[in-house]
Amino acid sequence: MALAYFYKPQHCISHMFFSEIIGQEILKSRLVQTVKENRISHAWLFFGPEGAGALPLAVAFSGYILCTNRGETDACGTCAGCNKNSKYIHPDLHFVFPVNKTRSVEKDNIVSDDFMSEWRNFLLKNPYGRLTQWFDLIDLENKQGIINTEESKRLAGKLNLKSFESDYKVVILWQPEKMNDQASNKLLKLLEEPPPMTIFILVSEYPDQLLTTVKSRCIPVKVPRISNKELTDALLNKHQLDQTRAINIERLASGNYLKAIDLISESDDIRYNFEKFRELMRSCFKKSIPEIIKLSEELATLTREKQKSFLEYGLRILRECLALHFNATGIVYISDEEQEFTSNFAPFINGNNIVPLTNELNKAIQDVERNANGRIVFLDMALKLSALIKN
Ligand SMILES: [Zn+2]
Repeated sequence: MALAYFYKPQHCISHMFFSEIIGQEILKSRLVQTVKENRISHAWLFFGPEGAGALPLAVAFSGYILCTNRGETDACGTCAGCNKNSKYIHPDLHFVFPVNKTRSVEKDNIVSDDFMSEWRNFLLKNPYGRLTQWFDLIDLENKQGIINTEESKRLAGKLNLKSFESDYKVVILWQPEKMNDQASNKLLKLLEEPPPMTIFILVSEYPDQLLTTVKSRCIPVKVPRISNKELTDALLNKHQLDQTRAINIERLASGNYLKAIDLISESDDIRYNFEKFRELMRSCFKKSIPEIIKLSEELATLTREKQKSFLEYGLRILRECLALHFNATGIVYISDEEQEFTSNFAPFINGNNIVPLTNELNKAIQDVERNANGRIVFLDMALKLSALIKN
């Protein structure tokens, strides 16, 4: 049950509809209106800060354009076009995004098409995803992702063909600032003399880095930070947070949905670490071997990063217990429960055992880093802690 903290499924969306986008109501209706009035410009620049939703908006907009049975405010979700869009396999929807050689894709002239299945997963899992998450997903290591000249050439080739199923062909170009100059100039040619019935949507976080000539060809669409109220609502409804936690996270996230997701998972981790550390210390204190074994086994199933984070959390609690002996003020607690536990636990931490206790946790961290067997590491550590917190 405890592992639910880590394996809780992400809020999973299949296709990005306007209705799935957090806030941005004015923009949504403006975009819907252009389609309804048949005034879709051939080039758009959606730009805004991380986590505001420029990419999901572009995806929803393209979905609405390609839907063959459009509703008043959204794509129908059931026509053949929507069906293909839900898997990001619509033949008239093209994606361009930064890539580079990876260990699994090593050839020259690498283009977005070489990573289409990864890209689909990326969009399906978190359409608000950030560039570094994309680079991690394709395992780019320290390399930079770029959009190269070959990409622009291929795109021109594809767009020369007639659309397959829809009246329109739509190109979503994510992070166009990653184009080199040559690629930008080729794109510029496409924007200047667009193939018929083709719509380009550039999605940028840093529009200042784009060529002015490219920018001047596009209708600018500024995607602002998500409003406080709308972000709070999303945290309450999509993520089922309680009111207090939703408001706390909204305040720290300042309109950035990605930041909010990071904060949720950080606070889940802290909560997990607290509960497990408290449980472990109680079993150590009781010298309950079956409980210690059970907990060691559970902790061993965590990823190495999570194991380390647990142990580092334990070190922090030990430091705070010691600080309490000196009436140190200014300790920051995550919750009342954490504060209560720390003050109850503090009497068992003293000048005699603090150093060996700290050593045991540090040794466990080193063992985890060395990829030692987690069950043995945690069991060994817990038995030693149990002996040390006797008095
Ligand atoms: Zn449809």
